[in-house]
Amino acid sequence: MIPFVDLKLQFELFRDAFQESMLKVCASGGYILGPEVTRFEKRFSEFLGVKETVGVASGTDALTLSLLALEIGPGDEVLVPANTFFASAIGIYEYGAIPVPVDIDPKTYLMDLGDAEKRVTHRTKGILPVHLYGQCLNMDAVMAFALKHKLFVVEDSCQAHGAKWKGQRAGSFGIGGCFSFYPSKNLGAFGDGGLISTNDGAFADKLRLLRNYGSKTKYIHETFGTNSRLDSIHAAVLNVKLEYLDDWNDKRFKAACQYTDKLAGIKGIQTPAFDVDDKPRHVFHLFVIQCEQRDELLAWLEKQGVQCGIHYPVPIHLHKAFASLGFKEGICPIAENLSGRILSLPMFPEISDDQIDTVVKTVKKFYDK
Ligand SMILES: *Cc1c(COP(=O)(O)O)cnc(C)c1O
Repeated sequence: MIPFVDLKLQFELFRDAFQESMLKVCASGGYILGPEVTRFEKRFSEFLGVKETVGVASGTDALTLSLLALEIGPGDEVLVPANTFFASAIGIYEYGAIPVPVDIDPKTYLMDLGDAEKRVTHRTKGILPVHLYGQCLNMDAVMAFALKHKLFVVEDSCQAHGAKWKGQRAGSFGIGGCFSFYPSKNLGAFGDGGLISTNDGAFADKLRLLRNYGSKTKYIHETFGTNSRLDSIHAAVLNVKLEYLDDWNDKRFKAACQYTDKLAGIKGIQTPAFDVDDKPRHVFHLFVIQCEQRDELLAWLEKQGVQCGIHYPVPIHLHKAFASLGFKEGICPIAENLSGRILSLPMFPEISDDQIDTVVKTVKKFYDK
């Protein structure tokens, strides 16, 4: 059996370090916003090269609180790629703004700015680029687009911890960079967690209020806020893991290169386009191929013990949850077409050469049948 991700491997590898750091939190009695959270926020700020970061309870909350802090609401529109995890749109919709789906580039699977141009109206307030599958967008182009249309940029970096565009980390370009520490992300906690990165001190201050009931001083509430904090125990885990993130991302990239070489020439599939000479750009949270007879291939792989996934089977605008917004099928044809062709193969830093070989052989066997 080849798992899609193997989270227990990493735990076993660093078991002692995790136990020590977690027990330290347990023994300290400081479970909420303690020194481990402050230490992680400082270290992750340095890692990203940003002024400040604010730890929150999940990636979804990172997005939602960012848009709340930007005072997005009814009558506003925010551009979001049609192919992404549903949560990318939650923050926009939560306070009554409209997530406007933008079609994607069929090569990179990322938001197509040419298409975004056509979707801008006088109500468009922001753009929410998603560094999907771990590949950083061309942020020169995104920032120029935002400047031209006077839009804020909130980067959904939930799949791109450590990815870089021209030497600068994903999540450090816009007013806010949103991260998730969901266990299977490139940097994952042992539960839910998230964070917002920013170079804007006032924005960070606002987020610190919002995550903590709108309060800086206990029982004094300056603004309406919620309870959304990164737990100390998860921060302790992340403090252990952060040191290895770049190394793990290197290993993912190496696995992606191997997949690409070995899958080459198999009729019926197409490997993802990425620049092998620009390793820092893509941290391969997922390795996503396009294939003929996708559903049959998926069933075959699962039957042979190769766990795969589809990211994502339904484009953002076609979810039932957004039925009331009246989006029609056909408005983002590329994303809609790809949602029936994409398949994510097993990908994690510790995946072995043998495991990759087995996945490739099993794929090959399907088309040779
Ligand atoms: C995981 C993810 C989120 C949500 O993060 P959670 O921590 O699960 O709330 C948002 N956007 C993208 C692109 C993601 O992959």
